[in-house]
Amino acid sequence: MNVDWLSRLPGPLRASLYFALQRGIGSQIHFRWEALKEWRRLSAADLSEAIERRLKRLLDRAINQSPYYQQLRLVRQPGESIQQFLQRFPVLTREQIRARFCELVVDPLRKQITSPESVSKKRYDWLVVKTGGTTGVPTAVVHDAEFRDWGRAMRLLSQELCGFPLGTRYFRLWGSEQDLLQQKEKLDRRVLKNLLGEVTMNAFRAKEAELIQHLKVIRSHPEIQYMMAYVDASVSLAEFIEDRQVPAPKLRTIMACAGTVTLEWRKILERTFQAEVFDKYGSRECADIACECSAHAGLHVYSPNVFVEVVDESGRRCPPGETGRLLITLLNNLSFPMIRYEIGDLGVWAEPAPCPCGLPFPRLQSLQGRADDMLTTEDGTLLSSVFVRHFVGVSLNRQLIREWQLEQTGRQAFVFRYIPLAKDGLESNLRQLETTFRTALGKSAAIQMQEVVEVPPSPTGKTRWIVNRWKRGQSC
Ligand SMILES: [Zn+2]
Repeated sequence: MNVDWLSRLPGPLRASLYFALQRGIGSQIHFRWEALKEWRRLSAADLSEAIERRLKRLLDRAINQSPYYQQLRLVRQPGESIQQFLQRFPVLTREQIRARFCELVVDPLRKQITSPESVSKKRYDWLVVKTGGTTGVPTAVVHDAEFRDWGRAMRLLSQELCGFPLGTRYFRLWGSEQDLLQQKEKLDRRVLKNLLGEVTMNAFRAKEAELIQHLKVIRSHPEIQYMMAYVDASVSLAEFIEDRQVPAPKLRTIMACAGTVTLEWRKILERTFQAEVFDKYGSRECADIACECSAHAGLHVYSPNVFVEVVDESGRRCPPGETGRLLITLLNNLSFPMIRYEIGDLGVWAEPAPCPCGLPFPRLQSLQGRADDMLTTEDGTLLSSVFVRHFVGVSLNRQLIREWQLEQTGRQAFVFRYIPLAKDGLESNLRQLETTFRTALGKSAAIQMQEVVEVPPSPTGKTRWIVNRWKRGQSC
């Protein structure tokens, strides 16, 4: 059934139909979106109070109903503030989530969620989310319906901050496994896409012919002026435009996602597309965490849904201006408490001050996430490496690999290093990974699968999950 006509309906109508569809499948996003409007109007004092209430609700639930937290025997002391109490909670690492997955689930749900392979019987309910995280460690977590709805509401806010509120049409340069494997998209996904007004391009495809196709798509929609994109994939497209000296399409804004927006990348995007660039920070396991606003003075933390701490090596909170590790607490995921989760990125608080945009949420001055290399395709164009994390961490995450690294060593030569976690099923999992990598990298790509005891650091000494030694060798 062709449902493309939906995208031609007026924006406000598509927005109403979007909420109606969500209600139809059992989502409460409409209420969360309305509640979020209230949060955006709070004074600084009211905001702190609202956050503390959410934190209290979460910590109470955790210490009373989640066996993992019950065993820690944490008790709030008389006179202790909720923030002080929070700081006595241990940091939650990916290793702990994997080892204690079932014990993290709260009481009434533990009968239903017995492993990362569990599936809910209801259409819209809790969901096991698999993720490569922002590092290379495959993890599985549970999101309950309330958190999923808040996550969607925050996504709508991100779009609004980046200039294209719900109803405005936009390009989405994003990884699509289905497109890569040439599978047909399901009807509900196509309906949703058209109601959102999304025009998609696959970030997992970046050979010359495919980039030319992306440009054709953009040019065929002069009425669309906004883009949501993997930052590296959009940079790869921009570099292609500059290298080949083809005329660049003009965009109004770009929401740069799924990677660190370096100054250099921001500049090339602004220059090529003449667009205003917005940095959006999030992950599969935490949803959208923070987003830049039109003041371009840092990223507003999404306080109604996440509580962010920046801590130093010894775990003490960092003052504004000092870089530290980010710990994320999911405020609305009461069924699977994730408290002080170590996401693996670094950040710095901005000096607290009202933002000209009017949003009361605190701002991170900057973020320093993973800095993966892009991979070079056969014809020399650059491919976003997010697909590697996608397959290892999400679609083929069988919880069999603990850590990994993919290195490009030649034009068509790659080494996939992995530390196994379990042996059962590992061989077939590795074969599946190899096959899907080749789908993205090209049929002639030679991929060596190598078991290691330690992932080697890159030439700069930092552990990197995707390293392109070939590109480096070329540029030197
Ligand atoms: Zn702002």
